[in-house]
Amino acid sequence: MIQEEEKYDFYCEEALSGKTKIDILFESEDVLAFYHTRPFWEKHIVIIPKKHIKDLISVSDEDMHIITQILTVARDLAKGLDLSEGVKVLTNLGKFQDTPHVHFHLAQGKQIRD
Ligand SMILES: [Zn+2]
Repeated sequence: MIQEEEKYDFYCEEALSGKTKIDILFESEDVLAFYHTRPFWEKHIVIIPKKHIKDLISVSDEDMHIITQILTVARDLAKGLDLSEGVKVLTNLGKFQDTPHVHFHLAQGKQIRD
């Protein structure tokens, strides 16, 4: 099993640094939303804080406003989706979390990879 400290922070190292080109849907001082570069679902958007925060349980009370902003962006982007197809809004923790930088997925459609 991959140890947590060996996991690569794609969001700081690639997306926020500009090293990997991303297709941005929303950007503010604190939050960035973009299409997943290797989507798991037919429609797959990722919403992240620009500040490095490891995961949801690491968010301090002072930074919770950033999570509120992330959910606000999720709400606004979900308004543009067809809810009859179903939409997922989720964040992973522990062994389910592949990238050690808190992020929320907004997903719709068939799962296209594991
Ligand atoms: Zn990070």
